[in-house]
Amino acid sequence: MGFSDTFPFLHPRPRDRERGKAGTNGDGGVDPGPLTAGLSAWADSQPILDALPDPLVVLVPQRSSSGGIIDFVYAYANAPACAYHHRSQRQMLGARLRQLHPAVATNGLFEQYVRVVETGKALDLDALDYPNDGATGPIHHYDIRVVPVGGVICFLWRDVTGRVHAQKQLQDAERRYRLLARHASDVVIEVDADHRVLWVSESIEALLGWQQPAVMGRAAIEFVHRDDRGRAVRAGQDLDERGPFEGELRILCADDSWRWMGVTAHALSGEKGMAWVLSFRDIHDEVRIRTELHHTIQHDFITGLAVRGVALERLRRSLDGLKGSGETLAVLSIGIDGLTQVNDALTHTGGDKLIAFLAARITKEIGNPDQVGRGTGDEFIVLLSPLPSGADAALTAERILRACQAPIVIGGQPIDPTVSIGIATARAGTLPDELLRDASLAMRQAKVRGRNCYAFVDDALATEAHTRLMFAAELQRGLAAGEFAAWFMPIVAFDTGEVTGYEALVRWLRPDGIEMEPAAFLPFAERSRLIARIDLVVLHQALAALSRLPESLTMAVNVSAATFSLDDYPELVCEALRVSGVAPHRLHLEVTETALLTVTDRIRQQIQQLASHGVRWYVDDFGTGYSSISHLRDLPIAGLKLDQSFTAAMRAKDHKSLRLAQALVGVAEGLELDTVAEGVATIEEACLLASQGWLHGQGWLYGKATPLPVDPFAGSV
Ligand code: C2E
Ligand code: MG
Ligand code: MG
Repeated sequence: MGFSDTFPFLHPRPRDRERGKAGTNGDGGVDPGPLTAGLSAWADSQPILDALPDPLVVLVPQRSSSGGIIDFVYAYANAPACAYHHRSQRQMLGARLRQLHPAVATNGLFEQYVRVVETGKALDLDALDYPNDGATGPIHHYDIRVVPVGGVICFLWRDVTGRVHAQKQLQDAERRYRLLARHASDVVIEVDADHRVLWVSESIEALLGWQQPAVMGRAAIEFVHRDDRGRAVRAGQDLDERGPFEGELRILCADDSWRWMGVTAHALSGEKGMAWVLSFRDIHDEVRIRTELHHTIQHDFITGLAVRGVALERLRRSLDGLKGSGETLAVLSIGIDGLTQVNDALTHTGGDKLIAFLAARITKEIGNPDQVGRGTGDEFIVLLSPLPSGADAALTAERILRACQAPIVIGGQPIDPTVSIGIATARAGTLPDELLRDASLAMRQAKVRGRNCYAFVDDALATEAHTRLMFAAELQRGLAAGEFAAWFMPIVAFDTGEVTGYEALVRWLRPDGIEMEPAAFLPFAERSRLIARIDLVVLHQALAALSRLPESLTMAVNVSAATFSLDDYPELVCEALRVSGVAPHRLHLEVTETALLTVTDRIRQQIQQLASHGVRWYVDDFGTGYSSISHLRDLPIAGLKLDQSFTAAMRAKDHKSLRLAQALVGVAEGLELDTVAEGVATIEEACLLASQGWLHGQGWLYGKATPLPVDPFAGSV
């Protein structure tokens, strides 16, 4: 049903149309005349129209004599329309449009209203601004629908001021948000329901190097790193349910590199579905530092290997993995031989270099850095899992021993490093830290056995840990009870075959009747710092024995690094000489090659001090340690003792050792040093060594260590 059907009274009567005008009323409006009569006809409908919340007016065109529309006259105004105009209904009727709203003449609206009448087509005017209180009141906004109804037009107004304000606020907010986004360092991206970039803030150029147009319309996921895409997609799916997503993703830069971004994503429901607003914050440096920190915590600074805790965790996982398989695995504990001495001599920087070198060699040999870890101190941990057999662990250990042996130059100092390896095997159910402990114990056992070798865990080792603490207490007790004794081994001149002196070798004569050899207790004594007390006991006993021997004979006494480092060592030695009444030149102090590496300036002075007092210094176990020829030149060394391993190698016809021994004696001759070859067991060896130029020999050929030195001229003393 049309408007005119509802309000037939609004049709101007033919007579009015002919006249082309309505009469004016007393207010200067048009006389409603016939309109009033028309209006009375819909008096029944008036309450309904007045109840409308928005104005509604009916205008009748007023024509000139030529028939053109020159104005419109109000034929009806409902209550809200009257209120708007501050007029009564009666005053409204007959009023002219141009009079009430003069602006229509200039703002083009008048022509548009005329067109509605002439074309019969409705006109929609959106959000027109009208001052609400005449010309001076606050501006209100109206959507106006102008509907032609017969020859008149009906105006339906709708006050949309609220909507317009809300829209404006939205626009302002949007403008502010875009402005903010443009100037903020974060990148803001709008992604549409198809997950394509709809809009991106300018800051993308500064942050990721992209020009805005290059990004628009592209699938957002293209910019996410392949490894992070799964996470991004899952987050997108959960977005509306779980609220905004906050996470870290690698985002593609224009130069094809990736940068870590802190991403916040909010879902927005749009017309076509769920769209997103993403904001990216540059956290690249933050992530990098965090990753480095994480790596640093998990990896050893010097070697880059996993730290003990991480290695332990890997071991735990491998042991778990063995469950039900019946398979076994092995842990190798690899200890660097003589690291303390290297540290003391070459500073910790030198020691660190040695550790790093060996770590690289072990890792290369194993082939997988994840199987190698750094233990405590001088220890590496290798995990062999699964392990076909114990023999495979031994073969791997041998390969590692060989790989570690190649000479290294650190700080200009040539070093022949060696390692000792402990092997512990286990099945599922073994506790990881117990396994590591057993491997470490076996490694120490390998060290005791002479280093540069490997040892398997055995029962003795298992008890060693428990007894170690007891051992220190036992050593203390033994020292207090005077159970440590110097035994004596003769040293012979190759040319005459005569005994020229003795070496004092310590024995622990325990109350249970066991005569314990140094290898069984010296490592414990060294660790518990009791070694110096033992050395001094031996020194006193050795000098006492020497004092009863002919003047021509000498006495060699072993000195550990801990002992000659004592601040008052020179005084202690001089005091022992004084007490025994032995001439200082008859005392030979033996220090191992590796112990020499610990020599600091202060110790050098002490060595010098004793040397100038007449005591003679010998380098023990020469040819096996880390010392260099420079020590022989810089320290007051009187002689060299060739390590017995050379003699053993000669016995086995090892040509390389033969040549090396030859070279070493050449060095000694060049420096005018006395020489002693150790471990001489046969006449042939003695002849061979003598022919090379070694001056003295010591070994079972001439006698083992005995409780009393045998005076070659008068029998036991
Ligand atoms: P070292 O000073 O090199 O002493 C030589 C070692 O080789 C001695 O072992 C000796 O018994 C052994 N030896 C000598 N000739 C032969 C041979 O022909 N065949 C075999 N199989 N062995 C031979 P020992 O007495 O067990 O001493 C081992 C090491 O313990 C010594 O090596 C020395 O480094 C250390 N040591 C011994 N007594 C003391 C001491 O009083 N103080 C310190 N600090 N260390 C000591
Ligand atoms: Mg010795
Ligand atoms: Mg020796």
